[in-house]
Amino acid sequence: MNCFFDDNVARGVCRFCGRAVCKDHATKRMPYIATVYVGAENTPKAVVIADSIWCGVCKPEAEPVPMPEIY
Ligand SMILES: [Zn+2]
Ligand SMILES: [Zn+2]
Repeated sequence: MNCFFDDNVARGVCRFCGRAVCKDHATKRMPYIATVYVGAENTPKAVVIADSIWCGVCKPEAEPVPMPEIY
């Protein structure tokens, strides 16, 4: 698999959009919110994976997007 942006060998996959990225394009990192749950006293808590590979192009939301329709 090659990088989405050039023909270099992909070294990873953007955690947010799934594009394959080479080592030149995998230099950007962004915390990835793996899951959000409601903890004690109804306090929302997030499991965050720091330094996830980010292609630098897509626009991940900083916070989980509310999806009231699934309730
Ligand atoms: Zn991306
Ligand atoms: Zn690349």
